[in-house]
Amino acid sequence: MNLVFLGPPGAGKGTIAALAKDTLRIPHISTGDLFRYAIAHETSLGKQVKAILASGELVPDSVTIEMVKERLVKSDAKDGFILDGFPRTIAQADALAQMTTIDHVINFVLDRDSIVVRLSGRRMCKSTGRIYHITFNPPKVAGIDDETGEPLIQRPDDQEEAILNRLSVYERQTQPLIDYYRHKGLLRDVDASGAPELVLQSILKII
Ligand code: ADP
Ligand code: ADP
Repeated sequence: MNLVFLGPPGAGKGTIAALAKDTLRIPHISTGDLFRYAIAHETSLGKQVKAILASGELVPDSVTIEMVKERLVKSDAKDGFILDGFPRTIAQADALAQMTTIDHVINFVLDRDSIVVRLSGRRMCKSTGRIYHITFNPPKVAGIDDETGEPLIQRPDDQEEAILNRLSVYERQTQPLIDYYRHKGLLRDVDASGAPELVLQSILKII
């Protein structure tokens, strides 16, 4: 099952993908996570994209497409995958269509106010990428990861200025993919406003 999770930043794609990957037994491939890993390990890719991620702009298509191409040929993705955060532009979607076929594009639908509340309360464990929310999914001990005991961080791009920029980047560059995939008959709208288990159930029903 080859799935794409599409939707604005903060809609819950990463949270639901982390649940769905265990149910479906396919890997969760997040381009944002891959970039953050490269930044944390100070690779040449990481150095190239660090400032771009902090600003909320998009990494150039050529760089992103190459990274995804290399990831999708790994053996764990041969029976399917959940792509989270890719494609984000029409050029990326065209490139993906050359690489593989997609079964469903899950479009996470959430209003703007809820998006901002989710993003500004998001916290993350830097080493594992585990996602929390200060209100909706708090850790057992405030500011500490439940399993590793490490301090949680707020992503630099979850500060207010970068959030607003990311939303406008989404509207300009990624929203056109909704029509792109609707025309191809692949788009499945999902109400992303409910609790994570409800959102997951809606997706499982669709696929
Ligand atoms: P969110 O899940 O909050 O939308 P991501 O973790 O998916 O954020 O992405 C974080 C950042 O990584 C983006 O703002 C962008 O700079 C970069 N990025 C991730 N995926 C892509 C992509 N497909 N194309 C270009 N840049 C990307
Ligand atoms: P995305 O990957 O789309 O950027 P995330 O999965 O990182 O979104 O979720 C953004 C924030 O919203 C996180 O703090 C997460 O804990 C929270 N969140 C995700 N899904 C839900 C949900 N269904 N209900 C409430 N909060 C959620």
